[in-house]
Amino acid sequence: MALSKSAVNRFKPGTAEYVALHGMWQISHGRKPSACLSFIINPAKAFAWARRYAYFPASETYLEGKVPKDYVCGECGASGVKLWRDYNTFLEHQSLRCLPCACHEQGKVRTPTEDGRSLYTDKVHHWYRTATTKPGWWSGYDPKDGPPADAIETRTEREKTDQIGWRVPAVPTEEGDTYWGYTSVPDPGVEWWQNLPALSHK
Ligand SMILES: [Zn+2]
Repeated sequence: MALSKSAVNRFKPGTAEYVALHGMWQISHGRKPSACLSFIINPAKAFAWARRYAYFPASETYLEGKVPKDYVCGECGASGVKLWRDYNTFLEHQSLRCLPCACHEQGKVRTPTEDGRSLYTDKVHHWYRTATTKPGWWSGYDPKDGPPADAIETRTEREKTDQIGWRVPAVPTEEGDTYWGYTSVPDPGVEWWQNLPALSHK
């Protein structure tokens, strides 16, 4: 089957899926793989890694972009929204929680980021510079202690996460019988989860 450029472009540059397909497309045109990953700059090595780890959804998009019937908050019954599972529980015996229910259960404060794809925590990182800070460098301070007297705060950054206490994103496998391990979710699955709304609009 001939590989089309549009098939390659279904995936975002920098993902394993893109690098694997892009490499095959290059080879089919008598060229060498040329795409790289953020953590593997060498295109030949990136292609080898991507061929091993790329995940191609059973149809055009992961889970055909749909939400499984049993993907429901076990506390309030919310559906069609992002859900979190318990990191410590066997994948087969998961309880799912929506954002408000998971925050309540775990005693954590979280809000969705503006783009709805991740979460903010209640922590802010503070960065400062002083008269002797080298160009391109900065330091951080603990807000409990405050910055040094000769410091000027130059930047703050609100912490982002996708975790709520012990709960991590629940990304069903396409077979629908279990969930991906936290560190092994393939990019199309991550994309599926990030695209779910954080809250139901009912
Ligand atoms: Zn809920």
